[in-house]
Amino acid sequence: METFEFKSEARQLLDLMIHSLYSHKEIFLRELISNASDALDKLRFEALTDKNLAPAGFDPEILLAADEGRRTLTVSDNGIGMDREELIKNLGTIAHSGTKEFAAKVKQAREASSEDRVAELIGQFGVGFYSAFMAASEITVVSRRAGHDEAWRWISAGDGQFSIEPADRDAPGTTIELKLRPADPDNELGDFTDAWTIERVVKKYSDFVTYPVRLKEKDGGWRQLNSMKAIWMRPQSEVKPEEYAEFYKHITHDWDAPFETITIRAESPFEYRALLFVPSKPPFDLYWRDLKWGLQLYVNKVRIMDQCDELLPSFLRFVRGVVESPDLSLNVSREILQQDARVRQIRKRIVKKVLETFEKIQKDEPARYATLWESFGKVLKEGVAGDPDGSDKLRDLLWFASSNDSAQPTSLKDYVGRMKDGQEAIYYITGEDRAALEKSPHLEAFFAKGYEVLYMTDPVDEIVVGHLTDYDGKKLQSVGKGTVELGTEEEKKQAEEARTEKQRAHASLLETLQKPLDEWVKEVRLSTRLKTSAVCLVGEESDLSPRLERMLREANHAAPKAKRILELNPEHPVLAKMQALHDSSADDPRLADYARLLHGQALLAEGTALPDPVDFARLVADLMVRAD
Ligand code: ADP
Ligand code: MG
Repeated sequence: METFEFKSEARQLLDLMIHSLYSHKEIFLRELISNASDALDKLRFEALTDKNLAPAGFDPEILLAADEGRRTLTVSDNGIGMDREELIKNLGTIAHSGTKEFAAKVKQAREASSEDRVAELIGQFGVGFYSAFMAASEITVVSRRAGHDEAWRWISAGDGQFSIEPADRDAPGTTIELKLRPADPDNELGDFTDAWTIERVVKKYSDFVTYPVRLKEKDGGWRQLNSMKAIWMRPQSEVKPEEYAEFYKHITHDWDAPFETITIRAESPFEYRALLFVPSKPPFDLYWRDLKWGLQLYVNKVRIMDQCDELLPSFLRFVRGVVESPDLSLNVSREILQQDARVRQIRKRIVKKVLETFEKIQKDEPARYATLWESFGKVLKEGVAGDPDGSDKLRDLLWFASSNDSAQPTSLKDYVGRMKDGQEAIYYITGEDRAALEKSPHLEAFFAKGYEVLYMTDPVDEIVVGHLTDYDGKKLQSVGKGTVELGTEEEKKQAEEARTEKQRAHASLLETLQKPLDEWVKEVRLSTRLKTSAVCLVGEESDLSPRLERMLREANHAAPKAKRILELNPEHPVLAKMQALHDSSADDPRLADYARLLHGQALLAEGTALPDPVDFARLVADLMVRAD
């Protein structure tokens, strides 16, 4: 017999399982049955290429047997089994990629004494096997890998160690014997030697399992407890929400019920079913670079892939579920799937159906849509940029924060519905922080007209506006780009004439001011967008926004550093003051200082770092000394 230590994260988890006040202890049985079902799925899959593994007449099953006298419960399956190395690896470590994060989060949650949060984490991370220690003081696993002759016994009391020794098992599969702790009805730990308790828990959590779950009766016979119908083959009207919720937990490990359940049933041109779930909260790894996503893919009741990402575009990567089609080939590889026109067709239909469902929620239950948007809006926005399947429908689903109503974001359709007479475009401003954007000098002229402006604060918005140039025939227009002409044709003409005339009058001054800023500014001009502020920076229609430039640089792209345009408010007294200085001496050194001060102010107002903060501070101090 050899003894091993659990890896440290596994030890923490065990400790958590044994000592947490987590009240749904009975879920351990669901986890063990779920593992047995997975093991049978794997066997079926391997048997596709090695017929010996499941010869004719092979009867896949999950067996439960209780012994009142010894206070034990045994869960066994004739699935894929584990060899010695697999026992050590699978039951001695946590295989999931999020292990470190998990351990850290659990530690935090426990320090905050937040047992609800701990329970939620257990759900999210799918720490199935160890949950059995909530019900058992000792666990013995005897397993024999399909295709191997020898079997192994794994034993642990959950105290930091486990041991392994050779064992006997007639056929491949796994037997898990739990030495039960005393029943604790207050914490939903019933007596699991009692047939009625076992039956209730199996029906509650595992009814949809597609293999028979059989309980040993007093007379030695076996009785099947689950109905075994694949839940995705049943019409949605006949399945209770709780049943969907249980199935959802089974495939996702998410503790919360799904936000929305969507079914698809297609008969022609070929047959397939899909059962899709939208989670109620974003999973913790939604934005991880190496996130794997996708749907489970079944062909003829055999699960051939766990995360088939060919079936879902990345902007719907939060959707979970199952697709089954008898018409696909059983011998699919990812390469074959990529070529398969039917897979593309299923994917198209899934995208359409999911987006239509969202549209309907948006229309009929806006408050519910708001929570959906809060959870997944950022991911949906990614689809606007570059996914041919989604972009048209997605436009109608987009919500943005707006100057219209601070509480609720708005759809573009609603924005257009509120546009003022004479308003030509949908106006937006991008930046990190809404509070700062609201006070941005760029908005003054728009607010003066009573026009609504969208606040685009998500980094992905920069990409969205790059692709979404118009909506419902209205141009999307950044308030920080190009020139601003608002109002009726007549008003615009007058404003433009007035500006050109002033521009001419101040031409020499503007040129003088531009020179010391040459490195950053390509033009200094008079503004039509400023009402109270003295100055702001704008770009040309085709320029990258300063934030996009920053993002590209952070991502190590060689973003060209575009020169900006500095706009001065023609009505601001500072202009007259500078003009007076310039009139008495065109090369008064103070003009260069003022130019740098104005440039610095404009940068600060939009939240961009100053190129030389020390110089700016000195200029301000000088100015204060000079002032009387
Ligand atoms: P998960 O099921 O999410 O992978 P678990 O903690 O429930 O995590 O199980 C850990 C691993 O142990 C499984 O991935 C599987 O490889 C192995 N395992 C558990 N139970 C069985 C079983 N009955 N048959 C074969 N392998 C099993
Ligand atoms: Mg499991």
